[in-house]
Amino acid sequence: MRVSIDYAICNSCGLCREVCPESAIRPKLLEPRHLYEVIPEKCTGCGECLD
Ligand code: SF4
Repeated sequence: MRVSIDYAICNSCGLCREVCPESAIRPKLLEPRHLYEVIPEKCTGCGECLD
């Protein structure tokens, strides 16, 4: 499974980053809005972050 963040609905809460067992989610941009991105090389597609 390929995971990416939908910025149209993401509220930048950071919960996905906290639960990722692979530390595959990192900050992408801080201003004007805090955004995260998935690092494809680290993501195993486990789905833990989806909820
Ligand atoms: S699918 Fe799993 S490994 Fe990939 S970003 Fe989400 S929690 Fe991390």
